Amino acid sequence: MITSEVADRVYRLGHAFVNCYLVEDDGRVLIVDAGLPAIWPLLAGALRERALRPQDVAALVLTHAHFDHTGVAARVQAHLGVPVWAHPHDFVLAEHPYRYAHENPRAIYPIRHPRALRILGSMAAAGALRVPGVRGLQALPQGGPVDVPGRPVVVPTPGHTAGHCALHLPDRDVVLSGDALVTLDPYTGVPGPQIVAGAATADSALALASLEPLAATGATTVLPGHGEPWTDGVASAVEQARRVGAH
Ligand SMILES: [Zn+2]
Ligand SMILES: [Zn+2]
Repeated sequence: MITSEVADRVYRLGHAFVNCYLVEDDGRVLIVDAGLPAIWPLLAGALRERALRPQDVAALVLTHAHFDHTGVAARVQAHLGVPVWAHPHDFVLAEHPYRYAHENPRAIYPIRHPRALRILGSMAAAGALRVPGVRGLQALPQGGPVDVPGRPVVVPTPGHTAGHCALHLPDRDVVLSGDALVTLDPYTGVPGPQIVAGAATADSALALASLEPLAATGATTVLPGHGEPWTDGVASAVEQARRVGAH
C-alpha cells in the first residue's frame, strides 16, 4: 500500500520524509500539500489504490509554500486542471520556492545534527533542488470553511512562513497541521511534537504563538507535514511542542 488511512477517509501519502494527504468526500478528492517532485507517480498510484480517478481530484490546498510541499503543485494545476489554494502571504514564495526566510543559517544544522543528513539527502534525491514555481493561486480565506472536498476550516498559523495555515476537519476530528507542528523535524532528525527548527522557520516566536489556535481546534488527530500522525489529541502535542520551544 502506498497510502494509509490515518483518519476517516483521510489518506497519508509520504515520500522522502514529507507528507501529503488525500481527503475524500463523496467520491471527490482534496489534496493537501504537494510534496517533492518525486511524489508525482506515487500520487497517481495513491488515487488508483483508493479507487479514485485523476478527474476526481477537485483541489489542492497548500498549508504553506515551502519547496518540500509544492513539488508537484504546478503539475497538479496543469495536468489535473484544478485550483491550487494557499494563503496570499505565501504567493511570492510559491512562485520563487528558494527565496524563503529563515532565522538561522541552514548549513550549521547537519553539522550539529548528523541524523538530519539522511533525511535531507533523501529530500534532495526526491527533487528538493529542482522544484518549479507555481502561480495563479487561489486565496484561502482568513478563517471558516473552504468550498473544497472535506470543507476544511482554515486556521491561520503564521510563523513557520508568513502565510502558513492549518486545516481543521471538525466532522472528522482531525487537524492537518502542515509545518506549524511536526512530529519529525527534518533539519535535526529529532522526532516528537515540535515547531520546525529555525533553519526553515521565518519567526519562531510567532510559530510558538500559533500553537494556540492549533490547540483551540481540540482535534484528536494531528496530521503533520513531517513525521507520523499524532492521535493523542492536539492539546498534548502542543504542550510538548511548547516544552521543546524554539531550536
Ligand atoms: Zn515548511
Ligand atoms: Zn516542510
